[in-house]
Amino acid sequence: MTALPALQAVGLSKEFRGFSATKDVNLDIRQGEIHAVIGPNGAGKTTLFNLLSGFLRPSRGEVRLFGERIDTLAPHQIVRRGLSRSFQISSVFSSLSVRENLLAALQSPTPLPGQFWSSRRKLAPLSGRVDEIVAQVGLEPLQHRLAADLSHGEKRQLEIGISLTQNPRVLLLDEPTSGMGSEGIARVTQLVREVAAGRTVVLVEHNMSVVSTLADRITVLQYGSVLASGSYQDVSRDPRVIEAYLGE
Ligand code: ADP
Repeated sequence: MTALPALQAVGLSKEFRGFSATKDVNLDIRQGEIHAVIGPNGAGKTTLFNLLSGFLRPSRGEVRLFGERIDTLAPHQIVRRGLSRSFQISSVFSSLSVRENLLAALQSPTPLPGQFWSSRRKLAPLSGRVDEIVAQVGLEPLQHRLAADLSHGEKRQLEIGISLTQNPRVLLLDEPTSGMGSEGIARVTQLVREVAAGRTVVLVEHNMSVVSTLADRITVLQYGSVLASGSYQDVSRDPRVIEAYLGE
């Protein structure tokens, strides 16, 4: 018997005033794999991530997490069922330290700074988990630094840490290496590999060398539809993909 897919899109479509941002997308993300979603700008990658994580409601189709329909749920309910997402636009609070950001996220997947300060005493038991996460994302030496004073790459590491606070079975990463130099890219690539142990990762990524290093399988989007999917080898040899994307 084949294992249930970790995450599935079934005929997933989203229209904005008659314009199809995603069109009949079928996606099977296998348990434990690292799956990259690639495609030119405007292909529908962000829309797809928003649909998978409950930030947008589909016009048609379904999203299933371990076989259970989630497209009718709110984002925080989806997080509770085991799917977390890191954002391309930072979800980090600049006025809090690295540790405090993680504590706030542990307390609530969608915290507000005021909420965090008011219940500070309740946070003490979460401290051990913060220790684990700062170590895991390589921010131990910077844990007391204000998030505002982190480099771009370190902020991305913290964002991954924030999404790990919910201990997700499925983690969606939106361009984890964007805007980074080669050193940052190498560090985050290694981090993604580590956090993928024991869970399923779906990432939107533009850097093809990162994709080829990390991804077990790839889905290529174009004009909102799935153009191809398979291993990097298969997809990168597909003439339609070369024309649409890789040969750009
Ligand atoms: P990608 O992330 O691959 O660059 P997007 O999902 O952001 O692509 O966008 C896909 C298409 O849908 C684009 O043509 C974009 O302009 C359009 N689109 C995305 N969000 C909206 C929206 N809220 N309203 C109207 N059009 C949108």
